[in-house]
Amino acid sequence: MIVDIKGVRKLYQSPEGEIGALDDITFSIEEGEFISIVGPSGCGKSTLLSIIAGLEAPSGGEICVDGSPIRGINPKIGYMPQKDQLFPWRTIWDNVTLGLEVQGRRDQSHQEFVKRLLARYGLAQFTGCVPGQLSGGMRQRCALIRTLATGPRILLLDEPFSALDYQTRLSVADDIYRIIKNEGKTAILVTHDIAEAVSMSDRVAVLSARPGRLKEIVDQPELHGLDPMRRRDHEMFHHYFNRIWKEIDISA
Ligand code: ADP
Ligand code: MG
Repeated sequence: MIVDIKGVRKLYQSPEGEIGALDDITFSIEEGEFISIVGPSGCGKSTLLSIIAGLEAPSGGEICVDGSPIRGINPKIGYMPQKDQLFPWRTIWDNVTLGLEVQGRRDQSHQEFVKRLLARYGLAQFTGCVPGQLSGGMRQRCALIRTLATGPRILLLDEPFSALDYQTRLSVADDIYRIIKNEGKTAILVTHDIAEAVSMSDRVAVLSARPGRLKEIVDQPELHGLDPMRRRDHEMFHHYFNRIWKEIDISA
């Protein structure tokens, strides 16, 4: 396994007292696996992702990556936050190489790697543009390429499509799924959209309302390896959708 989450708890202090955000979360993720985390709003999905990213420490339990406990930000992990967070005044090139720049690794071979990614994913002719000149879907691909540029093995995606309209979202989800599979990455996707989770992941982890507890992990063996578009037509799609929907306590 590449990520091992063991008894993770998170408490936040607030003026009204302690808020339990996560309670006793335990599961592990295999190398190359695509897993989604779903659950009602406020159940701790983003909190779990930021703990895996090393941006926050758990209040209890621990997370190991490749057998070592997480201590702060880890170069093996690429984190793509909810908003694409491209800088509007920087060109696409300066945006996608930002992570490399911050890490002092904007050398020739990394630049070549980013150029190949841009070409492969249809963005080569836009490197001199600023983000405002690109569509929402293209900006999302840029955000993913920026995350891939530093060579992480694990990608953390927090509601990456929520700013996109429904049609764009379907095709960008398809794109991003292919990019992640082609590049052989392990991916953890947080979403509140059950159809998105079923259409992209190998397994779906369902959290309860706050404090988030792991209710179930649903494996979808019939859908493994199929593109999101194909899955939406698959006879098992609604079976998994309904099963996960029944698990999520939307009344909370
Ligand atoms: P989700 O992503 O599932 O919607 P979050 O992980 O963002 O949920 O938040 C889980 C709970 O923890 C929420 O009740 C939220 O208000 C609370 N929370 C998140 N971050 C903080 C923080 N920095 N300080 C206090 N409470 C927080
Ligand atoms: Mg969130």
